[in-house]
Amino acid sequence: MSHLSQEEFVLSYYGEPGLGADRHEHLAQCQACIAELAGLAIVLDRVTPVDVPEPGDDYEARVWSRLPLPVTNRIGPLLSRKLP
Ligand SMILES: [Zn+2]
Repeated sequence: MSHLSQEEFVLSYYGEPGLGADRHEHLAQCQACIAELAGLAIVLDRVTPVDVPEPGDDYEARVWSRLPLPVTNRIGPLLSRKLP
């Protein structure tokens, strides 16, 4: 059986579903995969999850207010062009 793919290593690291029993069994017995997962775990353990704040109810209005011109003014000429 082939070694685990990078995606399978990530699934295993995070304990996500999708790794079949045969792949778990391979991982438990294959020294190369055990070593690869250990190396990946060292890297992923250092990654700190980032909390992304909720944008707020006025987010869309704030984005639109920061645009220099109404978008329709800029794309209007493009929309009115006739296609050949
Ligand atoms: Zn393997």
